[in-house]
Amino acid sequence: MNQTKTKELKKKLFDERSLLIEKLKGNDLSVDDSETPDPVDLAVRNYSKNVMLAVSENESRQLKLIDEALLRIDDDEYGLCQNCEKPIVAKRLEAIPWARYCLDCQELVERGMIDEDE
Ligand SMILES: [Zn+2]
Repeated sequence: MNQTKTKELKKKLFDERSLLIEKLKGNDLSVDDSETPDPVDLAVRNYSKNVMLAVSENESRQLKLIDEALLRIDDDEYGLCQNCEKPIVAKRLEAIPWARYCLDCQELVERGMIDEDE
């Protein structure tokens, strides 16, 4: 990978990273439970609380993947599948610059056939 490309890629990852951090900061998880709620209201509120939690979980996870990708750029390992060590196709990296696995391995991960190290 040439330097200009590396620079562009890093910028892309850093931009995405700061967006995520902003989003995570914006998630207000404090729900006021002090008033006596009626059950329907409570259910709705719990639901949105759970949705928000799930969202921040996804975002924290993505944040971690982005950090890993940045480390891999510095280690000259960027674009290699973390499972089979084959290069990840450029198209996939363009769509998901923080991709950790090639398509084949991603599928195995989704089927639970690869243990991801967290
Ligand atoms: Zn792979």
